[in-house]
Amino acid sequence: MDIIRLLPDSVANQIAAGEVIQRPSSCLKELVENSLDAGASRIRVIVQDAGRTLLQVIDDGQGMSPTDVRMAFERHATSKIKEAADLFSLRTMGFRGEALASICSVAQVEVMTRRPEDELGTRLVIHGSQVMEQEAVQCPAGTNIKVKNLFFNVPVRRKFLKTDQTELRNLLSEFYRIVLVYPQVQFTMVSQDEILSDLPAGTDKQRIESVFGKSVRQPFTGRFVDIKVETDVVSVHGFVGKPESAGKNPQQYFFVNGRFMRHPYFHKAVMTAYEGMLSADAAPSYFIYFDINPESIDVNIHPTKTEIKFADDQIIFQILLAAVREALGKFNVAPSLDFDVAGRLEIPVVSPSSAQPSSAYRPVTTHDSSYNPFNRMAQHDRPQTDWQRLYEAVDRSQPEVQPQLFDCGVELSKCYQYAGRYILFALGGSLMIADQHRAHTCVLFNKYSQQMAIARSASQQLLFPEVWEVSPEDMPVVDAMADDLRKVGFDMERLDRNSFSIQGIPAALDAGGTVPALQDILASVKDTRSSMREDWCNRIALSLAYDTAISYGTVLSDEQMMDLIKDLLALKTYKVLPDGKAIVTEYEQAEIEKRF
Ligand code: ADP
Ligand code: MG
Repeated sequence: MDIIRLLPDSVANQIAAGEVIQRPSSCLKELVENSLDAGASRIRVIVQDAGRTLLQVIDDGQGMSPTDVRMAFERHATSKIKEAADLFSLRTMGFRGEALASICSVAQVEVMTRRPEDELGTRLVIHGSQVMEQEAVQCPAGTNIKVKNLFFNVPVRRKFLKTDQTELRNLLSEFYRIVLVYPQVQFTMVSQDEILSDLPAGTDKQRIESVFGKSVRQPFTGRFVDIKVETDVVSVHGFVGKPESAGKNPQQYFFVNGRFMRHPYFHKAVMTAYEGMLSADAAPSYFIYFDINPESIDVNIHPTKTEIKFADDQIIFQILLAAVREALGKFNVAPSLDFDVAGRLEIPVVSPSSAQPSSAYRPVTTHDSSYNPFNRMAQHDRPQTDWQRLYEAVDRSQPEVQPQLFDCGVELSKCYQYAGRYILFALGGSLMIADQHRAHTCVLFNKYSQQMAIARSASQQLLFPEVWEVSPEDMPVVDAMADDLRKVGFDMERLDRNSFSIQGIPAALDAGGTVPALQDILASVKDTRSSMREDWCNRIALSLAYDTAISYGTVLSDEQMMDLIKDLLALKTYKVLPDGKAIVTEYEQAEIEKRF
């Protein structure tokens, strides 16, 4: 008996849908791209429940004839390529003819469309690939497509969807990837009857500004420099962030021929151009647009089409690197840089006289490689097993402190500060070296976590309230964590759709650091990909702890060090931070003895 048969179209379409339509945001992408391919100059996106119940796209593009609209929902039906050779000269966003067929196999679709030259348009209703209705109607020129109850017939896929908040964030990021390449098109995005994004037609720069400008208060020109280069292989233009405006929440976008793309290799080129200009945890924003002969790229390697292969990627790497370097150099941004030492590998040598105990203090980055406290000991030929004597060389000016019993139940004699960033002390016969910044971060992390649990904190009122502007994309996240931010001391109130007024801040925070600290928290919470409140709270507490802990280079008095170490040792976990960073290392006496 023969056993092979062709799958019914509805099944084949659902299988294809698995690849093309993974979530509401992929559906949004396909629909908006179709509108752009149809030459629309105004596009309105409307969603309900993050696209779960409704995703609607209305355009003023070329519309479809009654026959074409029926065809459009068939598999491999496209008006955009006729033969295989066309694949290599693509200038449209879509070409596979799969999207509408996929969408209508997993949703209830209603479309109204009219070509400008026709008097009547067509209304077509399809549920799970089944045509339910088709009729002639009066409607505006263009296409209006409603996708209702996505995955209504595929419960497993429905279960894969994340919280509305996450899905809405996905919708917005997808939306941004598109609107950033079509500044000449007017876009509106509406969710739950509220306008989330309203973008007038304009230039590249204006578009970036209207999408992201609100979340960063400096004007565009203050934060970005232009890049531009034209070669036979590729033309590149765009904007790269000045190093000093780099942060933890960068916006990084590559586009090729009007299409968003990911390209880790080209990303590396950009980052290489910034080498030595950024502090360890800051990354620059960039918006870089490539124009290239479509024949030298292959967009076909992934159905969702964000990975793109370039025939000349090594040459483009060099071109890009040079262009970004030149842009950063030309505007003379490099020399005025202020290096943040905290995250660098070199250990700064800080002299107490030049150091101030302020978090704004940046230590000098000279590294005295000949300095080694062990050397001095080596000159004395008596064997030393007592680590305290070993470190007499480091700091003779400090009077001896008698061993004391602290409430952490540990006997601690004396602490020494080394290189402006380590605290040395003896514990249970071992030599302990603690990283001062991380030790304090750990103590504060525990404190903030407790405050969040009991909802009590020390807040300092600001004389001049700060305004925190949040991009619409991040608003759902901020709304969800606002209560927890209040618990750690941020006295905040919603000002309008995109901003908060911050009237009070955690007692330990510098007023000037308010917005950066909030941005850090936001970046860290977004990074969890968890929707568990507990995970969020941990992120908030840790991020705030990092931002308020004593910095490297801060000279600590004996008493401050003792207090800090005492607080640290009183914690249940004091050797590593929740993000896995080591706080203390330990050298057993036997290990030290081996060195002599
Ligand atoms: P593709 O975009 O890859 O061609 P789709 O399934 O997304 O495949 O769309 C199929 C066809 O339907 C398109 O080629 C186009 O002719 C037509 N179409 C889809 N959306 C629109 C729209 N908004 N306006 C006009 N025509 C459209
Ligand atoms: Mg398409």
